[in-house]
Amino acid sequence: MHEHRYDRPDRAEALIGPNLVRQETPLDHRKLRRAYDARFRAMTEFRFLPLPQIRDWQLRRIREIVSHAHATVPLYREKYSAAGFEPGDLQSWDDFYRLPLLTKDELIAAWPDGSISSEHDAEFMTMSSGSSGRFVYLAVDEDAVHFENLQMARQNHVQSGGRLGPEDLTLFIITCPWWFTSTDGLYPQDFLTTRVPFAAAYEAIRTRRPAVISAYPSYLSQLAAAYPDLGRHGLRLIIVHSEGSSSAERRALAECIGVDIRDEYSSEELIRMALECPHGRYHVEADACHLEILEPRTGRRLAAGEMGEVVGTNLVNRATPFIRYRQGDLSSLLPACACPCGSSFPGMTAPRGRIDDSFVRADGTVVPAGVLIDDAYNWVLESRIPVNGMQYQIVQRDIDQVEVFLVVRGDFTDGMRAAARQTIERRLRDILGQETTVDTRLVDAIPHRNGAKTKAVLSLLSRAREVA
Ligand SMILES: [Zn+2]
Repeated sequence: MHEHRYDRPDRAEALIGPNLVRQETPLDHRKLRRAYDARFRAMTEFRFLPLPQIRDWQLRRIREIVSHAHATVPLYREKYSAAGFEPGDLQSWDDFYRLPLLTKDELIAAWPDGSISSEHDAEFMTMSSGSSGRFVYLAVDEDAVHFENLQMARQNHVQSGGRLGPEDLTLFIITCPWWFTSTDGLYPQDFLTTRVPFAAAYEAIRTRRPAVISAYPSYLSQLAAAYPDLGRHGLRLIIVHSEGSSSAERRALAECIGVDIRDEYSSEELIRMALECPHGRYHVEADACHLEILEPRTGRRLAAGEMGEVVGTNLVNRATPFIRYRQGDLSSLLPACACPCGSSFPGMTAPRGRIDDSFVRADGTVVPAGVLIDDAYNWVLESRIPVNGMQYQIVQRDIDQVEVFLVVRGDFTDGMRAAARQTIERRLRDILGQETTVDTRLVDAIPHRNGAKTKAVLSLLSRAREVA
């Protein structure tokens, strides 16, 4: 793969990882407006096309992406050549289902030389850690980022049952701001880091009056517990994501807050994969990704109703293509049947993805799992620790005692280890309280696991409480 060096001015930054440097420009917004004018209406109508028509469109798009990946992305060219596959071989869905699966390990090893298309760059670089707490870097192309802007706008329409429009503000309480603060003034977005105290988040909601907030469920439930009148300041929809929450939990919390709560199933690799509609059904975002459910050991395709691993193909991103990517979560497809919301997008059961634990501080306040996951993302975004391929586990052993386990790649130097240790411990003490002892250890494998599953954020306190 070494002859395909990613030879761009931003290579050094790409090797360290995503940063927070890029600022939006007026040109961005002119482009976003053009994309909105050209595509948004068709995007909103696409959901209502007959399913066979959607499938035909998907297959055409997949053929384009596979050809593109084979021609311009070394990882795919090598992988597909080794399997004896040529792009012309892909004519039908059956041909597609014979393509080899793509794993996170392959992507980690290929970054950046092997996994960025020669037609694209790392201007829009991002990363994922997924349910295992293992980081992978990827690049997204500009058109795909613009598509995601429009997808977020459509999401507000769909998940609110048509009650939200282009003037309504969405407040994201999350890791870092999105690339753009609106679509040229439409669908404005505001951002708040999960590190602000609940009081500041509540104050922002009270004064900025967002119509929508998008947050981790663990964060939301703590915020609502602290401020039960959260829903009385103009909120009309709450979107939760990234962590598992059951429909019963969402319903109970929605009744308490007085605002509808809908789930979003998304990852950085496959963007928004499925959204819960007002009738409680998860619909696959079929113009963003194609999802399959496979038997995890054999890769056999499973029929509707059978639980298996989610394997997805990103239908929009051409910078780092994701084709038959093992997302790792579990779900099953629903039999095709009409949903009262009118969408033809295929249904799936609630995905079982990451389930992490919240921590408790010495003063009794809860630190939601989402805050700790966000902090781990900021190890690179803010603190510039190269984390591609790194796996982590943050464990609360006792009320004032935390251990961080890191599995790092072979090219992680002693200097990087020392810096990482110091930075991570400082960041966690800032969140958990200066009296907390944080001990970082580099290990060969994540120690606390349940079968093949690991939690990135684990509390041994809650385990003790459950046993008691
Ligand atoms: Zn529906």
